[in-house]
Amino acid sequence: MSAAMKRWVTQQQSARIRRGLARTLVTRLPGEAVLDLASNDYLGLARDPRLVRAATHALSIWGTGATSSRLVCGTTELHERLEIELARLLGMQTALVYSSGYLANIGVLTALGGPGTLVVADSQCHASLIDGFRLSRSRTEFFDHNSVADADRLLSGRSEPRALLVAESVYSVDSDAAPLDALLGLAEKHDAMLLVDEAHSVGVLGAGRGAVAGTVLAAHPNVIVTATLSKALASQGGAVLGPEWLRTQLVNRSRSFIFDTALAPPSAATALEAITIIRAEPWRAAAMHAQATALAEGLSLRLGHLGLAVPQAVGCVRSLRMPSAATALSCAAAVRTAGIQIGCFRPPSVPDGISRLRLCARATLHDKEVAHAVRVIGTIVEDHL
Ligand code: PMP
Repeated sequence: MSAAMKRWVTQQQSARIRRGLARTLVTRLPGEAVLDLASNDYLGLARDPRLVRAATHALSIWGTGATSSRLVCGTTELHERLEIELARLLGMQTALVYSSGYLANIGVLTALGGPGTLVVADSQCHASLIDGFRLSRSRTEFFDHNSVADADRLLSGRSEPRALLVAESVYSVDSDAAPLDALLGLAEKHDAMLLVDEAHSVGVLGAGRGAVAGTVLAAHPNVIVTATLSKALASQGGAVLGPEWLRTQLVNRSRSFIFDTALAPPSAATALEAITIIRAEPWRAAAMHAQATALAEGLSLRLGHLGLAVPQAVGCVRSLRMPSAATALSCAAAVRTAGIQIGCFRPPSVPDGISRLRLCARATLHDKEVAHAVRVIGTIVEDHL
């Protein structure tokens, strides 16, 4: 054991505890009666019998794991069908499936980045995108959140031959939307590629097809989309979507695709079934939006006298800003003790440093559950402030 390393790690942990920033794992138990307002199961499909059947069927045919990387023998007909269906759903030319959304983001950025590529990214981009910028060794500049003028300024000063403009269609902290049309205009003006992470919009916006499909961005030669299969699609995995030349580049240059074991076939089958359901059951996205709106309205009414509000947003998440990380943490813990699981966003997960309680709506929430959550969370927040 290295004494120096242990000392350093222990000091870091003590500092995190002092500042209310220590992270711990919350273990779920089978059959536990907890009202879930924390997961990313936006459409309520994670336990849907049709998805379970699809996964079980794939298990019986392909076994438990992919057994190798995609380029060796990990590509099954399920992966191929999933790529075709994802491209159709999201309105893009091609798709390439990865074993997570995190690896999809890292994979596309490292395959297109490097010293000759300038990255200009929204300051609220997700950690997986930021890690991709770092690994790509591209010069990276961040524009003020959703400021097209700032992005324009940064692209105008470029000396690199190539540029990547990066945004999320819906941001994970406040569930607000990016000005995608204006960003595409910038990409065209500066001969850049626009990369849009659709993690929080697939299944949720555009009749379940995300924020790109059916718009001027769909299959546009300057547009790349990344997506996760782990939220609305209730599976695991991720994808990069775009023109054929991009897919070829990824298959040849994307290290997190080439050197990673392929997505497990049962996960591919689950995502395929989820796509069928998203197309057939548009009520799910509508119900999720209605419950998210009700949560925000209820809590804003309840907490208005304290000067607190839960702003409405375009995605599934509604955030309640807290005065400190420690208050956010103790509120979330008390809410959990009362039988409701909510998210607690603290630095470094919040780009502006403001901690938040994070409530995630779900298509299968009942009105009574929302009313109960508003009562319980409202009372606990009142008690903690
Ligand atoms: N992008 C965004 C915006 C995300 O929020 C997430 C996950 N929280 C990811 C990518 C990573 O996706 P995955 O969980 O499939 O690795």
